[in-house]
Formats: sequence, C-alpha cells, structure tokens
Amino acid sequence: MKQVVSLEELRAARKSLAEPIGFVPTMGFLHAGHISLVELAKKANASVVVSIFVNPAQFGPNEDLSAYPRDIPKDLKMLADAGVDLVWLPTPDDVYPPGFATWVSVEGVTEPLEGASRPGHFRGVATVVAKLFNAVQPQSAYFGQKDAQQVAVIKQMTRDLNFPLEIVVGPTLREPDGLAMSSRNSYLSAEERQAAPVLHRALSAAKTSYEAGEHSGDALRAAMHDVLKQEPLARLQYVSCADSLTLQELNQIENDALLSLAVFIGKTRLIDNVLLS
Ligand code: AMP
Repeated sequence: MKQVVSLEELRAARKSLAEPIGFVPTMGFLHAGHISLVELAKKANASVVVSIFVNPAQFGPNEDLSAYPRDIPKDLKMLADAGVDLVWLPTPDDVYPPGFATWVSVEGVTEPLEGASRPGHFRGVATVVAKLFNAVQPQSAYFGQKDAQQVAVIKQMTRDLNFPLEIVVGPTLREPDGLAMSSRNSYLSAEERQAAPVLHRALSAAKTSYEAGEHSGDALRAAMHDVLKQEPLARLQYVSCADSLTLQELNQIENDALLSLAVFIGKTRLIDNVLLS
C-alpha cells in the first residue's frame, strides 16, 4: 500500500494505478463502517484509493476540529489489511494553500437538517470533496448512508459540476446494540455510551409505526420524540421525517421518506437515520 502526502505525489502515484479506480474519502480514526466502503470499492474496481483528511472547512468555530480523534498508524494498518492500493494523507496546506479563495456552495438540499444546525458545514464538505475528486479522478466514489444528507449534497454537486464518476452509497454499519459506528463515539463516557443507542431505538420505533400503517409525518416525528425524551442524557437537536431526495419535511408519506435525527449525548453530537420505502 502506497502512502502519499502532496498533490504532486498523489498525481504521480495515481498514474500507475490500474483502472477503474474506486475512491473512499474519510477523516480517519477508521472503524468497520469505513472498511465496509473500502470492501464495496474493492469488489467493483481494479484499484482503491482512500484519503484521510480532517477537513477544517467543514467544522464550525465551536465544533470539535482540534479534538477530532486521530490514529494514523492504526488507520494505515486497517487500510493495508483491507487491501487498499493508495492512501492520500494531505495536510491542510496541501488542500488549502495560502491564497485559497474558491468555494463550492450547493443550494437546496444543504439548507435543512444538518445545514440548519451547522452553518457552513456543507460548503466545507462540497469544496473538499470537489477538490478530492479533481485530484484522484476516480471512476466511482463511496459514501455512507450514515451521513444521508451528505450523500444528497455530493450527488447534487456531482451532477451539477459534471464530475464523470458514479456515487455509490453503502449501508450504515452498527454496533450490536444498534448505535451507528462513528469516529465521534470515542468521545462518549461509559454512561453516555449506554445512553447512545437511544437514537437507533427512536428511529426503530418510528419505522415500526410506519410499517404498521402510520404515514403521518407529525406522528412519526412524535414517535421519535417520545423515545428520546425517556433518556435523560439525550438532548434533541432535531427529528425529521422528510422527502428522501429534497429533504423537505413531509406531512404525509406517499412514496419513501428519510427519518433522521441529531442528538447531543452529553457534549457529543450524534446523528443517525433510516430510509422508509
Ligand atoms: P468520516 O470519516 O466520518 O468523514 O466518514 C467517511 C465515510 O464513511 C463517509 O462517507 C461516511 O458516511 C462513512 N461512514 C461513517 N460511519 C459509517 C457507518 N457507521 N457505516 C457506513 N459508513 C459510514
């Protein structure tokens, strides 16, 4: 497995890779969810490229950029074991050199949910992903359903800016108690970790209610709310029952829908979602 840091090294290494190339962008501190995307990419491509970059542009001023967990030696071992061909570990200066002044701003799908709670977040995400796509030039790029709105934003940007690649979405990997795997789970104290599966319980309760015939958006949002309010360590930021493409809130589910939520457990902000179809 080759490792590169600068854009020049990345471009040189990319030239010797067999095509098609599958690309998995990450912020590191890898877990089985990331590796599941690598495995999807390996199945459909001749080479797999992974980037590890904690993107400062997608963190707000009061968010956890400096505290974001990092363990590059462990990440590299996991990626080598998974059969990755090339890992790109750019520095912030490689991605945003002095004088950097061009941003990618996606409208519409960036506005509700995470966009409303985290102003500027998706501008940072879209900009870095556009730069990573331009540098790696993969035939396919792999993203997790765990970050459902991110997927919608990247798909929109890929269409709008004519990136010649396919966006592939992998399912959310979960711990045995239902908690969606996330690098941020490492922030949780033992007590908070016990409380954290409440996100999945809330989504499951609403999903069960939907499957029993409840198609009202208000009723499904209330079902999630009811479960969350039973957990004293949980502080709700939003619950949503929205159109899975536009992410606009639904009064009534006609076809499919995305149930999603953002919840603080202590100081740690967790998100999760489930698709109803
Ligand atoms: P991150 O390192 O958090 O930026 O995540 C990198 C990629 O892994 C993104 O496409 C995430 O959606 C995806 N991902 C994160 N957690 C999971 C999970 N539990 N299951 C599947 N994919 C995930």
